[in-house]
Amino acid sequence: MSKSDYFAVQLEKLRQKEQYRRFPQIVHKGKFVEQNGRSMLNLASNDYLGLANDDALQQAFLEKLAEKRPHFTSSSSRLLTGNFSEYESLEQQMAEAFQREACLLFNSGYHANIGILPAVANKQTLIVADKLVHASIIDGIRLSDAPFVRYRHNDYAHLHEILQKQHLNYERIIVVTESLFSMDGDFADLPQLVEFKRQFGNVMLYVDEAHGIGVYGEQGLGVAEQMNCLPYIDFLVGTFGKALASMGAYVVCDQVIKDYLINTMRPLIFSTALPPFNVAWTEFLFEKRPHFQAKRQHLMQLSARLRHVVAEKLNMPMPSESHIVPFILGDNQCTVQTAQRLQQQGYYCLPIRPPTVPVGTSRIRLSLTADITHDELEQFIEQLFLCNIN
Ligand SMILES: *Cc1c(COP(=O)(O)O)cnc(C)c1O
Repeated sequence: MSKSDYFAVQLEKLRQKEQYRRFPQIVHKGKFVEQNGRSMLNLASNDYLGLANDDALQQAFLEKLAEKRPHFTSSSSRLLTGNFSEYESLEQQMAEAFQREACLLFNSGYHANIGILPAVANKQTLIVADKLVHASIIDGIRLSDAPFVRYRHNDYAHLHEILQKQHLNYERIIVVTESLFSMDGDFADLPQLVEFKRQFGNVMLYVDEAHGIGVYGEQGLGVAEQMNCLPYIDFLVGTFGKALASMGAYVVCDQVIKDYLINTMRPLIFSTALPPFNVAWTEFLFEKRPHFQAKRQHLMQLSARLRHVVAEKLNMPMPSESHIVPFILGDNQCTVQTAQRLQQQGYYCLPIRPPTVPVGTSRIRLSLTADITHDELEQFIEQLFLCNIN
């Protein structure tokens, strides 16, 4: 046996379970992607506001750069020689927008989620996380010294039970959730979580807004804005790589938490900071965010229509509450084949399988973007059900 036989055997097992992954060979053409010469409407994108393809925005940014061109690299961690005015400027603007004391930037949402919990949670801290939180949060919990428990997805009676039983046993309890769940498209009840914080004095809230920032709230600050919870969330985390068409992440928090993270958070301390050029682009888009209200409204209309039709045709409860609409088929092979058929019909739909989602809930995750038209959606809906019956 050669040393690599083991890996080949494991990969073969994944192939048999329809769980083998590879990079798709695709070419982006605005809201379409091309694969093997076939053009498909992209229904798998996280570019929820359609900003990634907005030529006018990019042009305006490039013109602004003529005044002062930011560095293309930071060459270092911010704690050494890599601190640039672009970071401080965006952090200040964000803290002001969220009306909170502080904001701290990270290289990605993955860095944020694997770094914050290990930094702030010790053995006297209990982490209590929703069963469906993102893999990056799970990795963060694993890297921390803190004990943890999971509560059933969005089951606040279960969460209350855990808090009731445990709150006297720990110095702190950190409740961790996404605001909008990435695979099911449903929301956490943030006001209920804030209520728990009032009820149990040592509870802190950690909320991941990866899919909410830019898309929800009148100012586009996310689900926490929409639910009037901005002042109460201790760790409000979000990413720039989705609706905000850039790269990187943030936490909005109290100043003491920011200072503590700067002193203890390993992915922040030991990784080269984002290119200032990238951060300038993020700030350029973040500033414009209040003006994307028409895009947000259009996206909400499209989403309501798709959710309604999926619920009606499949005779099931609303599949979600947002612009992320899961089309759950259950079986891996059936999901893969349905996705392939939709692709043949000109729709770039991707199958989501375990381990990304629980076994038996394989699905096509339909995610809508603001640059899709009503006509395009209606045509897609026709194809979706044709292909489901076949
Ligand atoms: C995408 C995502 C992340 C990771 O963010 P990146 O900036 O892509 O690393 C974290 N949390 C959730 C819920 C996500 O969907």
